[in-house]
Amino acid sequence: MKLARRVRGLKPSPTLSLTAKAKALKASGRDVVDLCAGEPDFETPDNVKRAGIKAIEEGFTRYTPVGGIDELKDAIIEKLKRDNGLEYSREEIIVSCGAKHVLYNIAQALFEEGDEVIIPAPYWVSYPEIVALAGAEPVILPTLEDEGFKVTPQEIKGAITERTKAIIINSPSNPTGIVYTEEELSAIYDVIRDTDIVVISDEIYEKLTYDSHEFFSFASLCEDAKERTIVVNGLSKSHSMTGWRIGYGAGRKEWIKAMINIQSQSTSNPSSIAQKAAVEALKGPQDALERMVEEFDRRRRYILERLNSMDGVRCTTPRGAFYVFPSVRGAIGRTYRDRMINSSKDLAELLLEEAMVAVVPGEAFGADGYIRISYATGMEDLKKGLDRIENFLNHLE
Ligand code: PMP
Ligand code: GLU
Repeated sequence: MKLARRVRGLKPSPTLSLTAKAKALKASGRDVVDLCAGEPDFETPDNVKRAGIKAIEEGFTRYTPVGGIDELKDAIIEKLKRDNGLEYSREEIIVSCGAKHVLYNIAQALFEEGDEVIIPAPYWVSYPEIVALAGAEPVILPTLEDEGFKVTPQEIKGAITERTKAIIINSPSNPTGIVYTEEELSAIYDVIRDTDIVVISDEIYEKLTYDSHEFFSFASLCEDAKERTIVVNGLSKSHSMTGWRIGYGAGRKEWIKAMINIQSQSTSNPSSIAQKAAVEALKGPQDALERMVEEFDRRRRYILERLNSMDGVRCTTPRGAFYVFPSVRGAIGRTYRDRMINSSKDLAELLLEEAMVAVVPGEAFGADGYIRISYATGMEDLKKGLDRIENFLNHLE
């Protein structure tokens, strides 16, 4: 029996599979330092955990409305107003099983064969696959490190065709950590304002910014920008809730309705318990988040200093998220104990096998010549991992 055409070329998420590989090696007793994790290494805050426990104890354990409970939608509406100056009604909000699920629902609701979706690279691993699963064509727009990995309005203009349906903007970005300013987003808006292009604004790392780089949502530019944008966000990164699976989308009523219909025929509602916990995460005290950002910032500074002092490595300063994306071009074309390094994939493989450090190769994000290192790892492990990378690089010939 043949598998369906749509899954024959489908790749599993490389970030999830690499993390699983590193965890399995560790579990088998190998001393692997895992620098590929795409999740905060902090606990879900206690008040949020307690809200989940209370939901169970009070028997809030049944189906809820498919697109989320009103209490959570209201907390999301309040958040979008407070943090982003955006006004939405309940019909313009969907709660799904993580931001990834929101993105999947968007693609299924809006894209079809013949559509093109512009994705600036380096991109988050799942965008092209989610777009392709809906039958549409991902149009990858490479950006340059020298331009801070930011897509320019001219580049977008050059990629637009009459088939362009949407563009995905991810700020702060996974894997580069770049954060678009209001002015940059406004210049992007100028090139699409006379088209019907939808903007998918993935804001999952909104709360993780540094060096007083303010987050700005594309939807906050003006009423027309808001009308064409679907805001995607969630609790995984801001409140260390990756396992709870709560993400949300905000956008036009007819889009949200279609997404809820898809959800009603696939997963039904996200977990009732996690929804209650998410209300607390959004409305309760935010001090755990503040402490987490401070700690991430401390690690970011450390890792940058270390990487930029290594032979063959160059790293631009990320302003958000919890990743660095250094260029390792200086290591490509060299050998380690007679093994040639032809790509960042080769380098990542050797780092895991020979130096016991797990990183994600740039190819996973559409950018050979780079690796992604996550600093969502304790300082001790980070130091150990960087020592090993440095030592490995010093042995290249
Ligand atoms: N968008 C980006 C850019 C991400 O890095 C992730 C990683 N988890 C997600 C969306 C999905 O997050 P989740 O499904 O856990 O909410
Ligand atoms: N988004 C995280 C990452 O890029 C988690 C893994 C995933 O969802 O693919 O590592």
